[in-house]
Parts: sequence; structure tokens; C-alpha cells
Amino acid sequence: PVAPPETGALTRRRAAVLGTALAPLTYSTPLHVASGRGATMTDTDGRTYVDAYNNVPVVGHAHPRVSEAIADQVRVLATNLRYLHPRAIELAERLVATVPAGLDTVLFLNSGSEAVDLAYRLAMADTGRRGALVTDFAYHGVTAAAAALSPEEWLDGSKPGYAERFDAPVGPDPDIASFRAALDRLAAAGQDPAMVVVDPLYTSDGIHTPGAAYHTALGDAARAAGALVVADEVQAGFGRAGDHLWSFTASGLDPDVITLGKPMGNGHPIAAVITRSAYVEALGREAEFFSTFAGSPVAAAAGLAVLDVIEDEGLVEHAAVMGARLVSRLREATAGCAAVREVRGRGLLVGVDLAGTDPAVVSRVQDRVRELGVLVGTTGARYDVLKIRPPLVISAGQIETVIDTVASALDQIADC
Ligand code: PMP
Repeated sequence: PVAPPETGALTRRRAAVLGTALAPLTYSTPLHVASGRGATMTDTDGRTYVDAYNNVPVVGHAHPRVSEAIADQVRVLATNLRYLHPRAIELAERLVATVPAGLDTVLFLNSGSEAVDLAYRLAMADTGRRGALVTDFAYHGVTAAAAALSPEEWLDGSKPGYAERFDAPVGPDPDIASFRAALDRLAAAGQDPAMVVVDPLYTSDGIHTPGAAYHTALGDAARAAGALVVADEVQAGFGRAGDHLWSFTASGLDPDVITLGKPMGNGHPIAAVITRSAYVEALGREAEFFSTFAGSPVAAAAGLAVLDVIEDEGLVEHAAVMGARLVSRLREATAGCAAVREVRGRGLLVGVDLAGTDPAVVSRVQDRVRELGVLVGTTGARYDVLKIRPPLVISAGQIETVIDTVASALDQIADC
């Protein structure tokens, strides 16, 4: 094998050609990665980290069944959806079988951003309106339309006139007063709502899991206002919630449109929208729709292999068991640490809330966790919630490593 380039030189070359304004690296000293397997990544010095952050490799980095499915198909044929071929159809049938009746049509795309963008186009086509409601610090993507619906990305004053934000549901009994107020502001701005888009586990808003009553009330109010309900499963979907393939199911959300992406191909780009045929027909009356790579036999082979592995390896149940252990043992391990306000989550999406801690300190905790051999992220409007979101194949032993490591990093760096 060819020796990897030296880290410092590669960092400089990266900055020179990829720029630094829009594509920063994670960590104050870059993690120069060479390979991945299961819930681990190995760097160019041969050090192996427990990857407790990457949700894209949902069935594990470099899963042989997914890699082989992609390789087998790419050796035979990679083409587009305008030719009749079974793979994408099989995948669409498998997906439709996992969602509530009436959500009968699948549209394939290449990224979560495109899926959200298309959800918005469907909502506008169906309702003839333009208004949209999003949670306070949501992230929904990079296209012009999806970025405009992603408050996490808004710099001062960049909120579009057709969008309003409402509070993510925090605490045990959240109500929808903030959502109603956002509807009123939209009306005052002369906009009728086409859709509300919700990430059912609020992955960017700091990880929140309101009771089903909240989402039922939200859905009722949205529909009474004539808006479609969109469940953005791009981040939390594909079994992470530990009770179903989709996080909206146990959240009490009753979506009209579902967006899928990130883990869908375990790293191969594939995304989708699942929705009602009526909305697709409405969009079809005003536009054509075709995306070159979307639903190619190669992407669909990756998607089918991911669903097979989730099923065959029992990963939804595994996520529930590992997630429950992670939350309860992390609570115990951090019980004496004043900086930890709460440990919360569902399945293998867990947040360690450090509200009130200086973001620079949170960032140092994240760095320290990495130095000790584990990768985690941060979330929330002040980036003061440690985000634990590992591949679902993470083992019981690796979960213990994550718990011990996060607890000792907090002990060393935070106010414990
Ligand atoms: N929606 C959510 C909830 C996401 O987390 C993301 C990606 N972080 C997106 C949409 C956009 O997906 P992508 O980066 O694949 O375009």
C-alpha cells in the first residue's frame, strides 16, 4: 500500500483547494482517517477509535454485504430510472410496506437536502401556497430552498419572509403555543402555510423526545391551517429510534411526506421521498422531474442491502437495548457532575446536555473524548449538548467504552 500523505501537508492542501469558509474540519487537530469497520474508524497512525458519531454507516463502516451489493451491481449496469429495471422498484415496494397506508409513492433522490427540497415543492404544488414552519434550530439541507428552511444556517437577518420558526419541544409536557404563534406570524406576513417540517427526534435542536400528544396536537393544528406535515427522517431514520425503522412512528407524528437520506445507502448516495400519489400528481401538472443518478440500480442495490442487514442482524432491537444501556449507565456515571443537566434520547440517539457550560469548554470536552479514543459530536442552538449517534452495530463493549470515556473527559474538563 502507498503511504498516506503527511497530515500537516494534507491539511494545507485541503485548505488551499476546498477552502476553509464552508468546509471546516472537525476537531482542533484533524482526524486523518484511513479505514473503518463496524463502529470503529482507524487513523493513519493505526489508532482505532470507537465511532459514536457517524449515522451514515448505519449498519457499520464498510459492511461487506453492502459493499458487495454495490460492487456486484456496478460491474453489471449503472443507469437511470428512465429504463425499466427491477432494483429501484423493489426498494420502493419495500419502503412503502414500512409506512402508514396512503403513503404509497416513492421518489428517489441523491441527498437528504434534495429530499427536503422536493418535499417543499410537493407541498407548494398541492396547497398552492409558499409558507413553511420549522423548529428553532433545525437543519434540513444545503439546496437554496432547504438552506432557507434551516435556521441552524441562518446568519442574522437571513430568515426568508415565507418561513417562520417555532420552539423545539423541550421538557416533559411541551405545548404547541409556540407553533400557533408562528402560524400567526406567518399569517401577519401575508403567507399561508404549505408545510411544517419536523425532525421527530430534534437532532439539531438538541435531541428532544416529546410525548405523542405533542405531535398529535401539532399535526392537528397544521392540518387545520391547511399545511402538510413533513417528517424529516434523514438523520433519525433507518432504525436509530430503536422501536421502528422510522422515528416518527413512536413519536405520534402522522406525516404526509417523509424524507429519507444519509444512512439509506450506508455511505452510497441515495435519498428518497415517500408520500401520497395525489401530491406527486399535483407537482406533475406543473413540472417535469428527473434526476440523473437517483434510483440507479447501484444506489438501489445499496438501499436494499441496508434494509436486509437491518432486518437480518436485528438492528432495530439492538439499537433499543444498546441505547437504553447507554442512557442509564451514562446517567449513573455522570450523576456527580454538576455540568450535566440531563442525559436524554431514544434508541441510539443520545444527548448529554451541558446547558450553561461555555461552548469552548464543550468543544474541549469533545476534543478530550477523541484523545481518549471515542468520537462524539455536539448539537443544540448553543452547541452545548454532546451528541452520541453511533452506527447501530455498536457492541455492548464499545458502549461501555463510550460511557467511561465521556464520563472521564467530563470529569477532566467540565465543571463536575
Ligand atoms: N435533514 C436532516 C434532518 C439532516 O440531518 C440532514 C443532514 N445533516 C439533511 C436533511 C441534509 O442531508 P444531506 O446532507 O444528505 O443533503
